[in-house]
Amino acid sequence: MSRTDCPYVDCREAKVTANAAVCPGCKRWLNRCGKCRTPNRSFANYCRSCGKGLPVLNEFWPASRGGAQRLSFSRQAAPVTLPDMKVEEIKVLRFSGRCRSLLAEDGYLFVVSDSGIIQVVDLNRIETEPYTFNVGGKIFAEPAVHAGTLYVGFLEDDTRDRGVVAAYTLGDITGSQPGVKLRWSLDLEGRPVQGLLPFGDRLYLNIGFKNARREIQYIENIGKENPSKPLTVDDGERISTLAANPPTGKVFFLSQKDSRLFVNIFDHSQGPHPEMESSQINGAPADFLEHIPAAVMGAKLFAVFGEQKHLCRIDTHSSSFDIKICAGVRNFALSGMSRQVIVNTTGIFSTIGNLQEDLIRGEGIVSGPVITRENMVVVGMRDGKIRFYRADNLAVQLDYQAFDADRKVLALATFKDMIAAGSQVGEARLLRIGPAGARAG
Ligand SMILES: [Zn+2]
Ligand SMILES: [Zn+2]
Repeated sequence: MSRTDCPYVDCREAKVTANAAVCPGCKRWLNRCGKCRTPNRSFANYCRSCGKGLPVLNEFWPASRGGAQRLSFSRQAAPVTLPDMKVEEIKVLRFSGRCRSLLAEDGYLFVVSDSGIIQVVDLNRIETEPYTFNVGGKIFAEPAVHAGTLYVGFLEDDTRDRGVVAAYTLGDITGSQPGVKLRWSLDLEGRPVQGLLPFGDRLYLNIGFKNARREIQYIENIGKENPSKPLTVDDGERISTLAANPPTGKVFFLSQKDSRLFVNIFDHSQGPHPEMESSQINGAPADFLEHIPAAVMGAKLFAVFGEQKHLCRIDTHSSSFDIKICAGVRNFALSGMSRQVIVNTTGIFSTIGNLQEDLIRGEGIVSGPVITRENMVVVGMRDGKIRFYRADNLAVQLDYQAFDADRKVLALATFKDMIAAGSQVGEARLLRIGPAGARAG
């Protein structure tokens, strides 16, 4: 039943060997069917041989805060062990505005500028010109890639609380004349902020207003041509970011009302249109920080609370406050499944269970940290550098000057042996890492 020809129309002749991740002929990415192993195109949703739905990645793009779980954790290991590492620049991208996000999925990198320009780079064929388009407004919320679609929220008019959310079908990006297709766009009451979270056939949105009010809204039937109108489900005094745990099908966020803290859950395992269930969390400080993403691992929700900026863990099964991990957290990334937490505060890393020994000063960290399969932690710095830490020994570091010293590194993403970094001044650089001594790559 399995097919071995290349899935791309302009190639097709090439025979693709079992388990190859790219076509040997056209060098494009191959999406393997879990059932018959047939290679399919990037962003395909169904197998072209057996028709079975292709798996949706739990991580929408490896190692960015934008994935469903907000883990910043890539399941791909970096192919090096620090300090034996060499960094080589392989591509530079320029655009207007600041780099808002970098998303890597299905062999493509999406470079998102806050000015509304999006560039799409084929990571297996970086010599080809990136496909560039403009959504037509300013992007404040992290876009998302889900089931062959890019979801983007933006503002056409900066002075009004009226945003737009748009869905672009990505299938054509792999063609010989690359393109994206606008499937639908919807006007919003409010402005999309934080990150967009597509889950099942629903798109969850964190909505902000100029008077600082926040809402959670969702849109149904996002895979179709005509999605439903946005529905508001919560308008607490404070609302956290959204995070989801794909294995259990649950979407979470925290909200605060009258100094009481609630965990709110949509359970998609109960059907495609779940109602929201809310329960009060006892014993927790209510004042969580709104601008630091909440992250989820299984039934545990992680968020930052209070003036002391405590990173805390909440058990969503028992709706109870579980553990206060450490204070002074400005951003964080989780490594492994519940074992280790690596924290980026105003320049300090720590790991659970070994707090004192692993405290390291890393002045001027600006980007969220990224972890590659527990072997490396990568951060973007204020002075244009990227710093690499060995995860099992944070004292082993390597700095790489990616941009001029007056340019902050705002966004990072990883894909196999590549690291993408985006700066505040309309520039993103694609780097390849490899063992020192050998030619990188
Ligand atoms: Zn091919
Ligand atoms: Zn198949």
